[in-house]
Amino acid sequence: MTEFVGVRDLTRWIADRGTGPIIRGIADRVAADFVRWQSFDKRERVASHTPFGVIELMPISDPDSYAFKYVNGHPFNPARGYQTVTAFGVLADVHNGYPVFVAEMTMLTALRTAATSAAVARLLARPDSRRMALIGAGSQSEFQAIAFREVLGIDTVRVWDTDPAAIEKCARNLEPLGFRVEVATDASDATRNADVITTCTADKANAIVLRDADVRPGVHLNAIGGDCPGKTELEPSILDRARVFVEYEPQTRIEGELQSKPADFEVTELWEVFAGRLPGRTSDGDITLFDSVGFAIEDFSALHYLRDDVTGTELVADIDLVAEPENPKDLFGFTMSPVGLV
Ligand code: NAD
Repeated sequence: MTEFVGVRDLTRWIADRGTGPIIRGIADRVAADFVRWQSFDKRERVASHTPFGVIELMPISDPDSYAFKYVNGHPFNPARGYQTVTAFGVLADVHNGYPVFVAEMTMLTALRTAATSAAVARLLARPDSRRMALIGAGSQSEFQAIAFREVLGIDTVRVWDTDPAAIEKCARNLEPLGFRVEVATDASDATRNADVITTCTADKANAIVLRDADVRPGVHLNAIGGDCPGKTELEPSILDRARVFVEYEPQTRIEGELQSKPADFEVTELWEVFAGRLPGRTSDGDITLFDSVGFAIEDFSALHYLRDDVTGTELVADIDLVAEPENPKDLFGFTMSPVGLV
Protein backbone atom coordinates (compact mmCIF):
# COMPACT_ATOMS: atom_id res chain seq x y z
CA MET A 1 0.00 0.00 0.00
CA THR A 2 1.04 3.58 -0.61
CA GLU A 3 0.54 6.23 2.08
CA PHE A 4 -1.55 9.24 1.09
CA VAL A 5 -2.10 12.68 2.66
CA GLY A 6 -4.81 14.66 0.88
CA VAL A 7 -6.16 18.19 1.16
CA ARG A 8 -8.40 17.56 4.18
CA ASP A 9 -5.68 15.88 6.23
CA LEU A 10 -2.97 18.35 5.24
CA THR A 11 -5.26 21.18 6.35
CA ARG A 12 -5.82 19.38 9.67
CA TRP A 13 -2.04 18.94 10.02
CA ILE A 14 -1.49 22.68 9.52
CA ALA A 15 -4.24 23.49 12.02
CA ASP A 16 -2.79 21.05 14.59
CA ARG A 17 0.87 21.99 14.22
CA GLY A 18 0.63 25.68 13.25
CA THR A 19 1.92 27.36 10.10
CA GLY A 20 4.89 29.01 11.80
CA PRO A 21 6.28 25.88 13.52
CA ILE A 22 5.83 23.86 10.30
CA ILE A 23 7.69 26.47 8.27
CA ARG A 24 10.49 26.49 10.84
CA GLY A 25 10.64 22.70 10.79
CA ILE A 26 10.76 22.50 7.00
CA ALA A 27 13.37 25.30 6.95
CA ASP A 28 15.63 23.23 9.21
CA ARG A 29 15.13 20.18 7.00
CA VAL A 30 15.83 22.20 3.83
CA ALA A 31 19.02 23.56 5.39
CA ALA A 32 20.16 20.05 6.40
CA ASP A 33 19.47 18.68 2.92
CA PHE A 34 21.36 21.55 1.24
CA VAL A 35 24.35 20.68 3.45
CA ARG A 36 24.39 17.15 1.95
CA TRP A 37 23.90 18.55 -1.58
CA GLN A 38 26.47 16.21 -3.11
CA SER A 39 24.52 13.10 -2.12
CA PHE A 40 21.65 14.11 -4.44
CA ASP A 41 21.17 13.21 -8.09
CA LYS A 42 20.03 16.57 -9.52
CA ARG A 43 18.75 18.00 -12.77
CA GLU A 44 16.81 21.00 -14.04
CA ARG A 45 13.05 20.50 -13.89
CA VAL A 46 11.21 19.36 -17.01
CA ALA A 47 8.93 22.15 -18.20
CA SER A 48 6.11 22.09 -20.77
CA HIS A 49 5.26 25.63 -21.82
CA THR A 50 2.05 26.87 -23.41
CA PRO A 51 0.84 30.44 -24.04
CA PHE A 52 -1.18 30.14 -20.80
CA GLY A 53 1.50 28.88 -18.42
CA VAL A 54 3.75 25.97 -17.62
CA ILE A 55 3.44 22.42 -16.27
CA GLU A 56 6.59 21.08 -14.63
CA LEU A 57 7.94 17.83 -13.23
CA MET A 58 10.63 18.21 -10.56
CA PRO A 59 12.62 15.02 -9.89
CA ILE A 60 15.47 14.43 -7.44
CA SER A 61 16.88 11.46 -5.50
CA ASP A 62 19.38 10.48 -2.85
CA PRO A 63 20.69 6.92 -2.40
CA ASP A 64 17.47 5.83 -0.62
CA SER A 65 14.64 8.02 -1.74
CA TYR A 66 13.33 9.44 -5.02
CA ALA A 67 10.95 12.41 -5.10
CA PHE A 68 9.08 14.28 -7.76
CA LYS A 69 6.56 17.07 -7.78
CA TYR A 70 3.99 17.87 -10.43
CA VAL A 71 3.40 21.64 -10.41
CA ASN A 72 1.82 24.20 -12.71
CA GLY A 73 2.23 27.97 -13.04
CA HIS A 74 -0.62 29.78 -14.79
CA PRO A 75 -0.56 33.52 -13.99
CA PHE A 76 -3.88 34.18 -15.76
CA ASN A 77 -5.70 31.52 -13.72
CA PRO A 78 -7.03 33.68 -10.84
CA ALA A 79 -9.00 35.84 -13.30
CA ARG A 80 -10.76 32.60 -14.33
CA GLY A 81 -11.34 31.35 -10.81
CA TYR A 82 -8.37 28.96 -10.67
CA GLN A 83 -5.16 29.22 -8.64
CA THR A 84 -1.87 30.17 -10.30
CA VAL A 85 0.02 27.26 -8.70
CA THR A 86 -1.23 23.75 -7.82
CA ALA A 87 0.83 20.65 -7.07
CA PHE A 88 1.10 17.14 -5.74
CA GLY A 89 4.19 15.12 -4.86
CA VAL A 90 5.46 11.57 -4.59
CA LEU A 91 8.20 9.77 -2.66
CA ALA A 92 9.45 6.42 -3.93
CA ASP A 93 11.77 3.77 -2.48
CA VAL A 94 14.94 3.75 -4.58
CA HIS A 95 15.60 0.09 -3.69
CA ASN A 96 12.53 -1.34 -5.41
CA GLY A 97 11.12 1.72 -7.19
CA TYR A 98 7.74 1.51 -5.47
CA PRO A 99 5.91 4.77 -4.71
CA VAL A 100 5.55 4.90 -0.92
CA PHE A 101 4.03 8.31 -0.21
CA VAL A 102 1.75 10.65 -2.18
CA ALA A 103 0.76 14.07 -0.90
CA GLU A 104 -1.14 17.23 -1.64
CA MET A 105 1.45 19.89 -2.47
CA THR A 106 -0.42 23.09 -3.32
CA MET A 107 -0.37 24.11 0.35
CA LEU A 108 2.87 22.20 0.97
CA THR A 109 4.55 24.16 -1.84
CA ALA A 110 3.58 27.46 -0.23
CA LEU A 111 4.97 26.15 3.08
CA ARG A 112 8.20 24.88 1.51
CA THR A 113 8.74 28.02 -0.56
CA ALA A 114 8.33 30.14 2.55
CA ALA A 115 10.53 27.72 4.52
CA THR A 116 13.27 27.94 1.89
CA SER A 117 13.06 31.74 1.89
CA ALA A 118 13.36 31.59 5.67
CA ALA A 119 16.32 29.21 5.67
CA VAL A 120 18.11 31.43 3.13
CA ALA A 121 17.23 34.63 5.01
CA ARG A 122 18.90 33.20 8.11
CA LEU A 123 22.13 33.17 6.07
CA LEU A 124 21.71 36.41 4.17
CA ALA A 125 19.42 38.95 5.86
CA ARG A 126 20.59 41.37 8.55
CA PRO A 127 19.60 39.83 11.90
CA ASP A 128 18.07 43.15 13.01
CA SER A 129 15.59 43.13 10.08
CA ARG A 130 12.06 44.01 11.22
CA ARG A 131 10.29 45.50 8.19
CA MET A 132 9.43 43.64 5.00
CA ALA A 133 8.08 44.99 1.73
CA LEU A 134 5.71 42.42 0.27
CA ILE A 135 5.15 43.01 -3.44
CA GLY A 136 2.49 40.58 -4.65
CA ALA A 137 -0.27 39.66 -2.20
CA GLY A 138 -1.52 36.40 -3.71
CA SER A 139 -1.43 32.81 -2.48
CA GLN A 140 2.21 32.77 -1.37
CA SER A 141 2.23 36.11 0.43
CA GLU A 142 0.99 35.28 3.95
CA PHE A 143 3.23 32.19 4.13
CA GLN A 144 6.20 34.42 3.27
CA ALA A 145 5.32 36.94 5.97
CA ILE A 146 4.98 34.21 8.60
CA ALA A 147 8.30 32.66 7.54
CA PHE A 148 10.17 35.92 7.98
CA ARG A 149 8.61 36.49 11.38
CA GLU A 150 9.63 32.97 12.44
CA VAL A 151 13.31 33.36 11.58
CA LEU A 152 13.98 37.10 11.69
CA GLY A 153 11.27 38.62 13.84
CA ILE A 154 9.72 40.65 10.99
CA ASP A 155 6.71 42.37 12.56
CA THR A 156 5.72 44.92 9.91
CA VAL A 157 4.82 44.21 6.29
CA ARG A 158 4.22 46.99 3.79
CA VAL A 159 2.13 45.44 1.03
CA TRP A 160 1.65 46.31 -2.62
CA ASP A 161 -0.31 44.48 -5.31
CA THR A 162 -1.89 45.75 -8.52
CA ASP A 163 -5.11 44.11 -7.26
CA PRO A 164 -6.54 46.06 -4.28
CA ALA A 165 -8.66 43.04 -3.27
CA ALA A 166 -5.47 40.96 -2.87
CA ILE A 167 -3.98 43.58 -0.53
CA GLU A 168 -7.19 43.62 1.49
CA LYS A 169 -7.20 39.82 1.73
CA CYS A 170 -3.55 39.77 2.82
CA ALA A 171 -4.18 42.36 5.55
CA ARG A 172 -7.31 40.48 6.68
CA ASN A 173 -5.26 37.29 7.07
CA LEU A 174 -2.14 38.80 8.66
CA GLU A 175 -3.47 41.39 11.09
CA PRO A 176 -5.21 38.86 13.38
CA LEU A 177 -1.84 37.07 13.61
CA GLY A 178 -0.30 40.19 15.13
CA PHE A 179 1.39 41.67 12.07
CA ARG A 180 1.37 45.38 11.51
CA VAL A 181 0.21 45.67 7.89
CA GLU A 182 0.79 48.90 5.98
CA VAL A 183 -0.85 49.41 2.59
CA ALA A 184 1.52 50.89 0.03
CA THR A 185 0.54 53.11 -2.89
CA ASP A 186 2.91 51.42 -5.36
CA ALA A 187 5.93 49.10 -5.39
CA SER A 188 8.35 51.92 -4.73
CA ASP A 189 6.34 53.06 -1.72
CA ALA A 190 6.25 49.47 -0.42
CA THR A 191 10.05 49.41 -0.17
CA ARG A 192 10.21 52.47 2.10
CA ASN A 193 12.52 51.62 5.07
CA ALA A 194 12.36 47.92 4.17
CA ASP A 195 15.03 45.60 5.58
CA VAL A 196 13.76 42.73 3.42
CA ILE A 197 11.95 42.96 0.08
CA THR A 198 9.93 39.97 -1.05
CA THR A 199 8.64 39.95 -4.62
CA CYS A 200 6.02 37.27 -5.24
CA THR A 201 4.05 38.48 -8.24
CA ALA A 202 2.71 36.38 -11.10
CA ASP A 203 2.89 37.68 -14.65
CA LYS A 204 4.08 35.90 -17.75
CA ALA A 205 6.42 38.76 -18.67
CA ASN A 206 9.82 40.29 -18.10
CA ALA A 207 8.18 42.74 -15.74
CA ILE A 208 9.99 45.36 -13.70
CA VAL A 209 8.20 44.99 -10.42
CA LEU A 210 11.15 46.27 -8.39
CA ARG A 211 13.35 49.17 -9.53
CA ASP A 212 17.05 49.55 -8.80
CA ALA A 213 16.45 52.99 -7.26
CA ASP A 214 14.24 51.38 -4.59
CA VAL A 215 16.92 48.98 -3.32
CA ARG A 216 18.92 50.42 -0.43
CA PRO A 217 22.31 49.08 0.71
CA GLY A 218 21.89 46.41 3.40
CA VAL A 219 18.60 45.07 2.11
CA HIS A 220 17.90 41.36 1.54
CA LEU A 221 15.91 40.61 -1.61
CA ASN A 222 13.78 37.50 -1.62
CA ALA A 223 12.68 37.29 -5.25
CA ILE A 224 10.42 34.30 -5.74
CA GLY A 225 8.09 35.24 -8.61
CA GLY A 226 10.62 35.15 -11.48
CA ASP A 227 10.68 31.41 -12.01
CA CYS A 228 10.16 30.73 -15.70
CA PRO A 229 11.77 31.66 -19.02
CA GLY A 230 10.46 35.13 -19.96
CA LYS A 231 9.05 35.69 -16.42
CA THR A 232 11.11 38.00 -14.19
CA GLU A 233 10.47 40.76 -11.66
CA LEU A 234 13.64 42.80 -11.08
CA GLU A 235 15.26 45.64 -12.99
CA PRO A 236 18.40 43.85 -14.25
CA SER A 237 20.83 46.48 -12.89
CA ILE A 238 19.86 45.39 -9.34
CA LEU A 239 21.85 42.21 -9.94
CA ASP A 240 24.99 44.27 -10.68
CA ARG A 241 24.85 45.80 -7.18
CA ALA A 242 23.82 42.64 -5.34
CA ARG A 243 25.52 39.46 -4.25
CA VAL A 244 23.39 36.87 -6.02
CA PHE A 245 22.59 33.48 -4.46
CA VAL A 246 20.86 30.66 -6.32
CA GLU A 247 19.57 27.17 -5.61
CA TYR A 248 20.83 25.12 -8.58
CA GLU A 249 22.73 27.29 -11.05
CA PRO A 250 21.83 25.44 -14.30
CA GLN A 251 18.10 25.79 -13.55
CA THR A 252 18.28 29.40 -12.33
CA ARG A 253 20.15 30.50 -15.47
CA ILE A 254 17.14 29.30 -17.49
CA GLU A 255 14.35 30.44 -15.16
CA GLY A 256 15.50 33.08 -12.69
CA GLU A 257 16.34 36.78 -12.68
CA LEU A 258 19.70 35.59 -14.02
CA GLN A 259 18.07 35.31 -17.46
CA SER A 260 18.91 38.99 -17.94
CA LYS A 261 22.64 38.37 -17.44
CA PRO A 262 25.43 36.74 -19.48
CA ALA A 263 26.30 33.09 -18.85
CA ASP A 264 29.43 33.99 -16.86
CA PHE A 265 27.64 36.36 -14.45
CA GLU A 266 28.92 35.47 -10.98
CA VAL A 267 26.55 33.75 -8.56
CA THR A 268 26.91 31.61 -5.44
CA GLU A 269 25.10 28.29 -5.09
CA LEU A 270 23.42 28.26 -1.72
CA TRP A 271 24.55 24.80 -0.69
CA GLU A 272 28.09 26.17 -0.34
CA VAL A 273 26.85 28.76 2.16
CA PHE A 274 24.68 26.22 4.03
CA ALA A 275 27.73 23.93 4.22
CA GLY A 276 29.95 26.74 5.56
CA ARG A 277 32.25 26.66 2.52
CA LEU A 278 31.43 30.21 1.37
CA PRO A 279 30.19 33.28 3.26
CA GLY A 280 26.63 34.59 3.13
CA ARG A 281 26.23 38.25 4.10
CA THR A 282 29.66 39.78 4.78
CA SER A 283 28.68 43.30 5.86
CA ASP A 284 25.66 45.38 6.86
CA GLY A 285 25.95 47.20 3.54
CA ASP A 286 25.68 44.11 1.30
CA ILE A 287 22.64 43.84 -0.92
CA THR A 288 21.89 40.13 -0.91
CA LEU A 289 19.59 38.60 -3.52
CA PHE A 290 17.99 35.17 -3.29
CA ASP A 291 17.06 34.57 -6.94
CA SER A 292 14.55 31.85 -6.03
CA VAL A 293 13.01 29.64 -8.68
CA GLY A 294 12.12 26.64 -6.49
CA PHE A 295 14.30 23.55 -6.70
CA ALA A 296 13.37 19.88 -6.31
CA ILE A 297 15.49 19.39 -3.17
CA GLU A 298 13.05 21.66 -1.29
CA ASP A 299 10.13 19.43 -2.27
CA PHE A 300 12.15 16.37 -1.23
CA SER A 301 12.76 18.02 2.16
CA ALA A 302 9.11 19.05 2.60
CA LEU A 303 7.73 15.64 1.63
CA HIS A 304 10.08 13.86 4.04
CA TYR A 305 9.31 16.34 6.80
CA LEU A 306 5.59 15.77 6.32
CA ARG A 307 5.94 12.00 6.12
CA ASP A 308 8.08 11.81 9.26
CA ASP A 309 5.57 13.97 11.10
CA VAL A 310 2.36 12.18 10.12
CA THR A 311 3.46 8.54 9.93
CA GLY A 312 1.39 6.44 12.33
CA THR A 313 -1.29 9.11 12.73
CA GLU A 314 -4.85 9.22 11.41
CA LEU A 315 -3.78 11.88 8.92
CA VAL A 316 -2.37 9.18 6.64
CA ALA A 317 -4.53 6.88 4.53
CA ASP A 318 -3.41 3.76 2.68
CA ILE A 319 -4.28 3.74 -1.01
CA ASP A 320 -3.90 0.84 -3.44
CA LEU A 321 -1.89 2.72 -6.03
CA VAL A 322 0.31 -0.21 -7.01
CA ALA A 323 -0.94 -3.64 -8.10
CA GLU A 324 0.81 -6.21 -5.89
CA PRO A 325 0.25 -9.78 -7.20
CA GLU A 326 1.40 -12.50 -4.84
CA ASN A 327 3.44 -13.96 -7.71
CA PRO A 328 5.33 -10.91 -9.04
CA LYS A 329 5.33 -12.45 -12.53
CA ASP A 330 1.60 -13.13 -12.62
CA LEU A 331 0.12 -9.69 -13.24
CA PHE A 332 -2.38 -11.19 -15.69
CA GLY A 333 -3.59 -13.68 -13.09
CA PHE A 334 -3.94 -10.81 -10.63
CA THR A 335 -6.34 -9.04 -12.99
CA MET A 336 -8.62 -12.12 -12.70
CA SER A 337 -8.22 -12.53 -8.93
CA PRO A 338 -10.79 -11.43 -6.33
CA VAL A 339 -8.34 -8.77 -5.09
CA GLY A 340 -7.75 -7.48 -8.59
CA LEU A 341 -11.48 -7.39 -9.30
CA VAL A 342 -12.48 -5.54 -6.10
P1 NAD B 1 -0.98 34.48 -7.21
O1 NAD B 1 -1.48 34.57 -8.61
O2 NAD B 1 -1.88 33.92 -6.16
O3 NAD B 1 -0.54 35.94 -6.71
C1 NAD B 1 0.26 36.79 -7.50
C2 NAD B 1 -0.13 38.24 -7.20
O4 NAD B 1 0.76 39.10 -7.95
C3 NAD B 1 -1.54 38.60 -7.63
O5 NAD B 1 -2.30 39.06 -6.52
C4 NAD B 1 -1.35 39.69 -8.69
O6 NAD B 1 -2.37 40.68 -8.66
C5 NAD B 1 0.01 40.26 -8.30
N1 NAD B 1 0.73 40.98 -9.36
C6 NAD B 1 0.91 40.62 -10.65
N2 NAD B 1 1.67 41.55 -11.27
C7 NAD B 1 2.00 42.48 -10.34
C8 NAD B 1 2.79 43.66 -10.37
N3 NAD B 1 3.40 44.07 -11.48
N4 NAD B 1 2.92 44.38 -9.23
C9 NAD B 1 2.30 43.97 -8.09
N5 NAD B 1 1.54 42.86 -8.00
C10 NAD B 1 1.39 42.14 -9.12
O7 NAD B 1 0.39 33.68 -7.29
P2 NAD B 1 1.19 32.98 -6.09
O8 NAD B 1 0.78 31.56 -5.95
O9 NAD B 1 1.15 33.87 -4.88
O10 NAD B 1 2.66 32.98 -6.68
C11 NAD B 1 3.37 34.18 -6.83
C12 NAD B 1 4.58 33.94 -7.72
O11 NAD B 1 5.51 33.09 -7.06
C13 NAD B 1 4.23 33.25 -9.04
O12 NAD B 1 4.94 33.87 -10.08
C14 NAD B 1 4.69 31.82 -8.83
O13 NAD B 1 5.03 31.20 -10.04
C15 NAD B 1 5.88 32.05 -7.94
N6 NAD B 1 6.26 30.90 -7.10
C16 NAD B 1 7.59 30.70 -6.93
C17 NAD B 1 8.03 29.68 -6.10
C18 NAD B 1 9.50 29.49 -5.89
O14 NAD B 1 9.89 28.47 -5.29
N7 NAD B 1 10.34 30.40 -6.31
C19 NAD B 1 7.10 28.84 -5.48
C20 NAD B 1 5.73 29.10 -5.65
C21 NAD B 1 5.33 30.15 -6.46
